[in-house]
Amino acid sequence: MKISEILKQDKLLLSFEVFPPKTDTAFESVKEATQEIAKLNPSFVSVTYGAGGGTSRYTLDIAKNISDTYGVPTLAHLTCVSSTKVTVKERIEDMKKAGIKNVMALRGDLTPELMNSDRKEWDYNYALQLVQELKESDGDFCIGGACYPEVHQESINQKEDIMHLKEKVDAGCDFLTTQMFFDNNLLYNFLYKIREAGITVPVIPGIMPITNAKQVERAINLSGSFMPQRFKALVDKFGDNPDAMKQAGIAYATDQIIDLYANGIKNVHVYSMNKPDIAQKIQSNLSDIIG
Ligand code: FAD
Repeated sequence: MKISEILKQDKLLLSFEVFPPKTDTAFESVKEATQEIAKLNPSFVSVTYGAGGGTSRYTLDIAKNISDTYGVPTLAHLTCVSSTKVTVKERIEDMKKAGIKNVMALRGDLTPELMNSDRKEWDYNYALQLVQELKESDGDFCIGGACYPEVHQESINQKEDIMHLKEKVDAGCDFLTTQMFFDNNLLYNFLYKIREAGITVPVIPGIMPITNAKQVERAINLSGSFMPQRFKALVDKFGDNPDAMKQAGIAYATDQIIDLYANGIKNVHVYSMNKPDIAQKIQSNLSDIIG
């Protein structure tokens, strides 16, 4: 089922994100974890893609296993940075063969190595070009794009970032999923600004449950996310106690999701990171809310 159709439903929904194994040996354990997440029957499961392309096969294997075995719709991520047109066309063909209906079209992060290479040589510099490629294919894909309530780290300012986001959406994105954020007001301000800029597609907020202190630094480095005082206090108090930190992190994420639902958001995406216990706890915290 296409995610654009799922998002039209008049009910509150929860989706989860998983990542594929990086090696053959990890495949079975990752498959098992993602199956446990699929059994929670979320609105869809998204499966990430290694920027270097190393996990491309596994992205499709995991996505196909979830949809074929559990009937849960999947969203396969695909990145394009530094890829050739030939490789991207091959990946698109692979997706068609695997019966993928939903694709998250991403640029991919620039590693320091990529930063120093000659970008003029690349076939793809921005996700926009991948969206165009997917649209031109005969895959009839539902296409998602990434967006950044706190501005993408390479953007000069939010105005530019939103201008480029509009170009990407106009090229054919059916919906957007946000980078993680820890203060919902940032999301509400962002939504106001993109709607004002004429971006009308559904936006799915992405929530990352921070369940150990180490994750905090990683999250800030990855996304440049603002950490509200309320969140910092929680890490200060419980960071040294893994069980308490996990419980507090799940409660914080749950609280964010309830506030999003209360303010009119219908589908929230949880960065569940192959952790079925965390996905399950968040879902059960919301059981009477999502029904
Ligand atoms: P783009 O939309 O291309 O934007 C990148 C930057 O370029 C922005 O600053 C934008 O403003 C600017 N820009 C865009 N178009 C132009 C233009 N024409 N001229 C000048 N500037 C322009 N990474 C992975 O490797 N694998 C994944 O599976 C993955 N999943 C993700 C899922 C979500 C929901 C999110 C939010 C991110 C994900 N990422 C993933 C990370 C993502 O690849 C990085 O954040 C990357 O740096 C940007 O990707 P993008 O698709 O947003 O790029």
